[in-house]
Amino acid sequence: MEQERKDEILSAIHHCVKCKLCSISSFHPNAEWLPLCPSGQFYGYQAFYAPGRMEIFREILDGEITEPSEGLLKSVYACTLCGACYERCKQITSVELRLPELFEEMRAELVKKGWALDVHKNIAEKIKETRNAYGEKYEYKAKSPDGNADVLYYIGCTARYRVPEIADAMLQIFDKLGIKYRVMNEEWCCGSVLLRTGQVEAAKELMEHNIEEIKRSGAKTVVFTCPGCLMTFEKNYPDMGVELLHSTQFLTRLGGMKVKKQGLEVAYHDPCHLGRDLGIYDEPRAVLSTVADIKKMKREREEAWCCGSGGGVKSAYDEFALWSATERLKEAKEAGAKALVSACPFCKRNLKEAADKEGKGTEVYDIVELVNRSLEG
Ligand code: SF4
Ligand code: SF4
Repeated sequence: MEQERKDEILSAIHHCVKCKLCSISSFHPNAEWLPLCPSGQFYGYQAFYAPGRMEIFREILDGEITEPSEGLLKSVYACTLCGACYERCKQITSVELRLPELFEEMRAELVKKGWALDVHKNIAEKIKETRNAYGEKYEYKAKSPDGNADVLYYIGCTARYRVPEIADAMLQIFDKLGIKYRVMNEEWCCGSVLLRTGQVEAAKELMEHNIEEIKRSGAKTVVFTCPGCLMTFEKNYPDMGVELLHSTQFLTRLGGMKVKKQGLEVAYHDPCHLGRDLGIYDEPRAVLSTVADIKKMKREREEAWCCGSGGGVKSAYDEFALWSATERLKEAKEAGAKALVSACPFCKRNLKEAADKEGKGTEVYDIVELVNRSLEG
């Protein structure tokens, strides 16, 4: 790492006063104090909260750690990069500590030292071999793509291989609304999982391929059902001169959909990359409110509780990921919702897995599934 960047990070770290207010969603004396940092809440030690992680980063940068212990690696990687600490801290301190970005850089430093987790190295290997994060060897086939369409749907690995009902629903919505769409000739993983786990170099080839394919396609708008892919294209890819939209932004702009409300009482779970990272809070609620009745949960929008699966946590620490999802399901139930609805394949997968394990009957959907079901087609 260049000295200038190292000094910037150390200065940012020194601005943390270790107040730990980033770990609670409300600290007003009359309000209920609810936890906000899933990793700190699950593991309980200071090293699993943002200020502890920053102290570890300082030690790494100052060369005080020469061999990583298992505990140190766990502290670095058992963070979902949900950004809740960042949102909270910026309401408290005048200096913006961009914590998830710092934690990603910390992981990149670990990778340079050869200290990456085996499970994350295996994902990189799978991507190298198959160009998708799950190592699947078959292709998800879109039903009726039009090679000349202005709209390109970037499906993403999780909707292609783990929750295809989301990709199916989005494609059916395009068809029912008469919107011509195309998909990429060869869609490669966007690189998010590699970038989030510090494997920056391995992501470059994927990004170059996707940029080339999108430019060559001539599409004017790229639609994403995955906020992780969208955030990666927004923040890590160079400007390609095309419009990048989440499915809920795309549907809000279209307006005038002939949908029938289903009378289902739902809670809306803000995906971290969509809400805190991209500031998209209103469009998902606008679309969802046309097809279901939304019940309010205690922690929403900037203060949303993370589903637990991001930042490489689902693959490395599944028990923690499922615990975090179970906490969210409890909150939805307390709000009086019969279903928990998100707008992210990664959230859906983890929340659904937790709901099935719990067996208490809370349904889990993505917004596009409910829209597709309600559309007169
Ligand atoms: S990151 Fe911010 S809120 Fe958290 S302990 Fe440091 S100064 Fe306090
Ligand atoms: S990004 Fe999320 S999990 Fe990580 S330290 Fe911050 S609040 Fe905790």
